[in-house]
Amino acid sequence: SGSSAGLPQHVRDRVHDHPCYSAEAHHHFARMHVAVAPGCNIQCNYCNRKYDCANESRPGVVSEKLTPELAAKKVLAVAARIPQLSVVGVAGPGDALANAEKTFRTFELIREAAPDIRLCLSTNGLALPEHVERIKALGVDHVTITINMIDPEVGAQIYPWIFFEHKRRRGLEAARILHERQMQGLEMLVAADVLVKVNSVMIPGINDRHLAEVNEAVKSRGAFLHNIMPLISDPAHGTHFGLTGQRGPTPAELKALQDACEGEMQMMRHCRQCRADAVGMLGEDRGAEFTSQNIDAIA
Ligand code: SF4
Ligand code: SF4
Repeated sequence: SGSSAGLPQHVRDRVHDHPCYSAEAHHHFARMHVAVAPGCNIQCNYCNRKYDCANESRPGVVSEKLTPELAAKKVLAVAARIPQLSVVGVAGPGDALANAEKTFRTFELIREAAPDIRLCLSTNGLALPEHVERIKALGVDHVTITINMIDPEVGAQIYPWIFFEHKRRRGLEAARILHERQMQGLEMLVAADVLVKVNSVMIPGINDRHLAEVNEAVKSRGAFLHNIMPLISDPAHGTHFGLTGQRGPTPAELKALQDACEGEMQMMRHCRQCRADAVGMLGEDRGAEFTSQNIDAIA
């Protein structure tokens, strides 16, 4: 599908200029990610920290890391060159909220300089509940949470550890805390009227049969879109799953699951898993035109 026609009107009104959520907007508006969030507070078995967060990006991509000041400068430079720029997001290269000060500072600077640009962020959800108020206050209107399970037994096979309240936690305890925080964060965002998209990584033999239940759980809590992405497992990138030979789903398996989850809730099928410093219309990446070396010349 990829069209916004299946979304309720109040949601459609809010995403008409967001290239990721509206097939029409996709052709007329541009998005941009700024890579201001290097750290992460959990470990996913499909992640290699040398590369961008796989929650929102293709694996194996390294983005140029920016300070909030440079990021805001880059946004203005891009907005001057690409007038269709409507959305700026923080999607890594680690977790937006494990680097909350950098992420929010970046948003404040963009808000001051370019108040019409919409802001979004993506997160694994662990640090979400304590940041909902700030997200709301800054007018961030879209948050993406990556939710791969609602059952800690499944989660323990995906997350070897989390770092929570000054302690590293492992196994079922880690997965249970992550799950509770994700659900709490989702509910709080929906209650605060922030649009929430859920990403899930489909991992055959681990959570593929479980994702229909995840779909139910996030739908009933008010997420407006569910984006099921394939695990892209490549041993060359040194992820734990890559090393164990864990395969990704076939296109047919992915489509069957997306079809099975398609109820009254819109499934997102055109997400490109853009890199954490992607710039331009969806499907194009003009990031190389706007590096910290040349933004002074452009701005
Ligand atoms: Fe890697 Fe993202 Fe998972 Fe953190 S949340 S471990 S950066 S894939
Ligand atoms: Fe949009 Fe997906 Fe790209 Fe994010 S990763 S900007 S949701 S298409």
